[in-house]
Parts: sequence; structure tokens; C-alpha cells
Amino acid sequence: MQDLPTKKRIAIFGSTGSIGTQALDVIRANPGLFEVEILTAQTNDELLITQAMEFRPNAVVIGDDSRYQKVKDALSSTDIKVFAGETALEEAADFDTYDMMLAAIVGFAGLKPTLKAVEKGKAIALANKETLVVAGDIVMQKAVEKRVPIIPVDSEHSAIFQCLVGEVRNPIEKVILTASGGPFLGKKPNFLVNVKRDHALQHPNWSMGAKISIDSATLMNKGLEMIEARWLFNLQPNQVEVVIHPQSIIHSMVQFEDGSIKAQMGLPDMKLPIQYALAFPGRVKNDFPRLNFRKNPNLTFEEPDVKTFRNLSLAIEALNTGGNMPCVLNAANEIAVWAFLRNRIGFLDMTAMVEKTMQHVAFIQKPTLQEYFDSDGEARNFAASLINL
Ligand code: NAD
Ligand code: MG
Repeated sequence: MQDLPTKKRIAIFGSTGSIGTQALDVIRANPGLFEVEILTAQTNDELLITQAMEFRPNAVVIGDDSRYQKVKDALSSTDIKVFAGETALEEAADFDTYDMMLAAIVGFAGLKPTLKAVEKGKAIALANKETLVVAGDIVMQKAVEKRVPIIPVDSEHSAIFQCLVGEVRNPIEKVILTASGGPFLGKKPNFLVNVKRDHALQHPNWSMGAKISIDSATLMNKGLEMIEARWLFNLQPNQVEVVIHPQSIIHSMVQFEDGSIKAQMGLPDMKLPIQYALAFPGRVKNDFPRLNFRKNPNLTFEEPDVKTFRNLSLAIEALNTGGNMPCVLNAANEIAVWAFLRNRIGFLDMTAMVEKTMQHVAFIQKPTLQEYFDSDGEARNFAASLINL
């Protein structure tokens, strides 16, 4: 008798966000392949409840404990377990009952639950790039120890990962991350100084959560992705390059030691890298729109303007310096983006805040996990003190 194919049990951490909701679209379209085991959200209780009623997970976690009762009451007719609070996220990550975590929380908050899942030996579909920016050495070391696959969801890293299939024995010369350039490509500081949040939130090619949209407008996102790539693919900082490619058709490239370059292409749609990560190593048939080269005949490339978009140079500096510097950069940037989104500081002030914080926090060459947490806290406090938050 043939075994029934088993479904992959997915835990979506950050299910109400841009990545989380698109992942649920993929799961909805493939009920024979996946089932939802855990859903988590920070504040959006309404959407979490709706998702739970549709996908019937074993458990849900609402980060903000003041919303616990509402979620509990709404799901009282089901046997879905409801938990609340930050520590519940880590406890849920420690459950035996799922196969893969989709790490789709935004920011530093994603680190602890993701690390817990790695320690537990769970496969990770990684959207939360900040986890690797902050503590990439520790997370990747743990993943190797536990033989945990970390499959990138970020489109650039998914592209590189796909280019590397079948190339295990072939060293990488360099990876080339493509960047759309964001909504302010070609603009200069005299324009950027007046940019407001609503304008910065409009990305030309991708629809994403607020934080990554601002990071895309400042090019910090590409800097974070360089650091992410360094850890994911075990590269030296000088093996990671960025090129502006405004059409976002080539999602990134790998250059091998014979000079051959492989690229992965497609229309910009995060559902594709999400589906690839969830279904890896298989490819799943879908009805997403296809790229037609005759309708997209111009693929162009240019150097990033790091003099104008100084966040990218700061991130490259952090990448080259190593130690706790990327962690400090990330923490200051989270505060800066938070303040910009609330109209507390201007577009260019974000860079100044990150730069000053990098100069202020003491450098640690080889931090422990606790030292990463301390550096994060110190950087946040210092960045916030710059604007009396
Ligand atoms: P989002 O803001 O749309 O969603 C974030 C999710 O995390 C929500 O479910 C929210 O409830 C949860 N969350 C927020 N703060 C939390 C906290 N403190 N504790 C626990 N949960 C919290 O973000 P997004 O755009 O979906 O991005 C998620 C991650 O994926 C980010 O790290 C981002 O860089 C990465 N990513 C996103 C895209 C994209 O297209 N959106 C592309 C590549 C990578
Ligand atoms: Mg990306």
C-alpha cells in the first residue's frame, strides 16, 4: 500500500503582515501540500481571528497581551489554543507539532523565536532578514550544528539560492544583488530632505510592509540584504556586490570562479519566493502571471548612488567592520524608521541617527548572544535620546 503524501505543517510567525498574508494565499492554493499549524500576530487581532477561522491552526499567538481575551472569545467555539505575549512566541516556536517556520515577523523581534526554532531543529523559511543582520554568525552556526535548512524568502536571496542548486562543489566568486533603487532613484539630497512618509511608502515594483518600504526608499534594505547574503551563503564582505536594476526582473545573480554568471528572473511577485521556500526542494505549478521578454525588452543596470543614499554606505561599513556593528546599525535604523513613519524626523535625519549611533556604541569583535541583545538595547536608547523619544 502506498503511503499518503504527508502535508508540510507550517508555523507562520507574523501571519498578518505582507509576507504572512501572501504565504497564506500560497497555502490556500495548495491544500494538498501544506497545512497551517501556528499563526502569530502582534496587534491585528481581527485578521488573526479571520485567518484562524479559515485555516484552523493548532495554536495562535497574539503578541499584545491586552488583546488576548478578544481572540480567546472569538475562537471559543473551536479547539484552537490561544496564547499571548512575547514569551509565548518563543514557547510556540518550541512546539513539536510543526515542520517548518516561516519567519515573517518584522525587525529584531523576529530573532528570538527564529533562533528557538533553529535550536529545535525546524526548517526555516526566512523572510525576517534582521535575524541574520543582528546575529548571523550565531544563527548560522546553530543551523549547521542542528542540520537545519534555512531557505531564504527575500527575493534576492531566493534568486541566489535557486542559482546555487546543483553547484555544491563550485565556489562562488561573488554574488550580485539587484536593487530597484526604490521610489527616489536618481534623486539628490536637496529633493530627499523634503520627502514625507506617504511618498516614501510608495514603492514602484513591490507592495510591502511599512518598515521594509522605507528601508527600500533609503537603500538601507539593500545594505541589510548584503549582510544577510554574507551569512546565508558564507561569503566574505567583498564577495557581495549591489547593482541597480530598476525593472526588478533579475532578482539577483551568482558569479562562479569560471566567470559564468547565473541569474534568476521573473515578474516581481513575492508569492514566488515564498512558494519556493515553503515547497523546497520541489517546484509547484501555479497560475502567477508569466514574464514576457517581448513586453519587457529593456533590462538596465547602473551603479548605486551611495553618496546620496548614505544608508547603503553605512551598511557596507557595518558589513566590513563586523562584530556588533550590523546589530547597532539595525537597531538605530529601526528607531529611525519608526520615528520617520510618525513624522518625528525627516528622511535624511534617519541616516544621521544611524551614523551617530554607530559612532557611539562600543565595538565588540565577537559578541555573545547576550552582547547582541545588549548592543541592540544600547543602540535603541541612544538613537531615541537623539530626538527625545
Ligand atoms: P509587515 O509589517 O507587513 O508584517 C509584520 C508581521 O510581524 C505582522 O504579522 C506583525 O503582526 C508582526 N509583528 C510586528 N511587530 C512584531 C513584534 N514586535 N513581535 C511579534 N510580531 C510582530 O512586514 P512584512 O513586509 O511582511 O515583512 C516581514 C519581514 O519580511 C521583514 O523582516 C522584511 O524585511 C522581510 N521581507 C519582506 C518582504 C515584503 O515584500 N514584504 C520582502 C522581503 C523580505
Ligand atoms: Mg529583498
